[in-house]
Amino acid sequence: MQALADKLGGAVAYTRSFIDTGHVASETAMIGTSGKSMQPQLLINAGVSGATQYVCGINKSKTVISINKDPQAAIFGFSDYGVVSDVDKVLPAVLAQL
Ligand SMILES: Cc1cc2nc3c(=O)[nH]c(=O)nc-3n(C[C@H](O)[C@H](O)[C@H](O)COP(=O)(O)OP(=O)(O)OC[C@H]3O[C@@H](n4cnc5c(N)ncnc54)[C@H](O)[C@@H]3O)c2cc1C
Repeated sequence: MQALADKLGGAVAYTRSFIDTGHVASETAMIGTSGKSMQPQLLINAGVSGATQYVCGINKSKTVISINKDPQAAIFGFSDYGVVSDVDKVLPAVLAQL
């Protein structure tokens, strides 16, 4: 994820539930009602469900691409483009193309 963000000149931020797993530092950027609002030119949601508390932090983004293995994921309703697949397959493939 960080490698892709670096390649695109972007930054990585997280949902609350991902931060709660403890895989990233607790002070890491979190998006949503309890975190930050953002308005990037391009937002790539990787394995994000689309909970209301998250979505209200991204609704000013210009173009939204979401990758989720669940075709019913709510995040697709807030996306310009959707990829129904495993993030662990899609992100390395995108990085390789770049
Ligand atoms: C008062 C309150 C305030 C809150 N504030 C915030 C906030 O500011 N920000 C915030 O983010 N949340 C907030 N929450 C929590 C919010 O309600 C959700 O629980 C949270 O956003 C869910 O995060 P998630 O989508 O990462 O996790 P999950 O709900 O666990 O969803 C994970 C998603 O990833 C998909 N997925 C999993 N593995 C893969 C894979 N390998 N490839 C592709 N797809 C995959 C699954 O299909 C699923 O859709 C708040 C909750 C409360 C009660």
